[in-house]
Amino acid sequence: METKSIKAFGTVAADAPLKTLDIKRRTVTAHDVEIEILYCGICHSDLHSARNEWHGTTYPIVPGHEIVGRVTKVGDHVKKFKVGDLAGVGCMVDSCRECEHCKEDLEQFCDSGSTLTFDSPDKHLGGQTFGGYSESVVVDENFVLRISDKLNLAGVAPLLCAGITTYSPLKHWKVGPGQKVGIVGIGGLGHMGIKIAKAMGAHVVVFTTSLSKTEDAKRLGADEVVLSTDPEEMKKHAKSLHFILDCVSAQHDIDAYLNLLRVDGTLTLVGAPMDPLPVTSFSLILGRRSFSGSLIGGIAETQEMLDFCAKHNIIADIELIGVNDVNNAYERLLKGDIKYRFVIDMASLKN
Ligand code: NAP
Ligand code: ZN
Ligand code: ZN
Repeated sequence: METKSIKAFGTVAADAPLKTLDIKRRTVTAHDVEIEILYCGICHSDLHSARNEWHGTTYPIVPGHEIVGRVTKVGDHVKKFKVGDLAGVGCMVDSCRECEHCKEDLEQFCDSGSTLTFDSPDKHLGGQTFGGYSESVVVDENFVLRISDKLNLAGVAPLLCAGITTYSPLKHWKVGPGQKVGIVGIGGLGHMGIKIAKAMGAHVVVFTTSLSKTEDAKRLGADEVVLSTDPEEMKKHAKSLHFILDCVSAQHDIDAYLNLLRVDGTLTLVGAPMDPLPVTSFSLILGRRSFSGSLIGGIAETQEMLDFCAKHNIIADIELIGVNDVNNAYERLLKGDIKYRFVIDMASLKN
């Protein structure tokens, strides 16, 4: 298969900093779209993977699955896109398309395993897929999203993972008016969760460990803000929440949040720290409560979320950086020091 060599930013080992790498992209086949990447968000999953925190990384790795850019080439059979269109790519670039979950638009749960945007077996070139910290990407049109030209493009990039990962569970658990909804951990995912839950009509209570975010959370749409390190403040919300979305990237106390749920309430985990999160039986039993998880969202639902955000004028609050700031950005993520998503200006890779 014909390939093209491009520049990317990635790493060759868990303990090595990210640096410029040369990678190959396939030339477009009949159903492919080639996208020049303009912006790519930095998800905490990029960091978990680059540093092998989930113990499955293949090196070299090029992270990045919050991609927006412009179409530069389309295959002969492509119908959805033409050259010059804006386009987005999220966490998946392919799946089997035949299993029961793919047929239900839940490609993230594909029985054969969906092809993730980075560090997944590449069906075309062999080896692993490379993500969005790069000049361009080639993706089957069925896994490419349409992007509104009405919103700030750099602020749209984080919707491709942080947006869909919070929209999907909020919708699945039918969050809406009359409900008190908790969002825990105000990073990339959490701050999108606030904006989307608010747009869905819920009363939003934010839980943060960062004093500096308590003032800011209301601007993002929170009705109430709780400093979660203060047990007295936590107590005030006991048995009061219908639904809690947990977006925390590190070890923390799940029982403390389960006890804030009403009878029949649900706590859904989207944060993905590696180590087990212990749960006390009585935190669940006493209120017939549920503890669940959710993984990104399907392609059709990702398009629905993008359209929802365009309608409600929702984008991420971002800090725009160049590729040379990525290693420093990773260090800041570990400290929760982000308001609220780093986005890489991919033009910086050319210089
Ligand atoms: P992020 O921007 O780094 O935000 C994580 C937030 O968690 C921090 O800003 C901080 O919020 C809180 N936090 C960090 N360390 C903490 C600690 N030790 N104790 C309590 N709170 C802490 O990360 P993100 O990109 O939003 O991702 C969050 C998690 O979701 C990651 O584990 C990521 O891998 C995972 N993820 C899952 C999916 C999925 O499909 N399920 C998709 C994308 C990402 P405060 O400062 O407000 O306390
Ligand atoms: Zn992500
Ligand atoms: Zn499948």
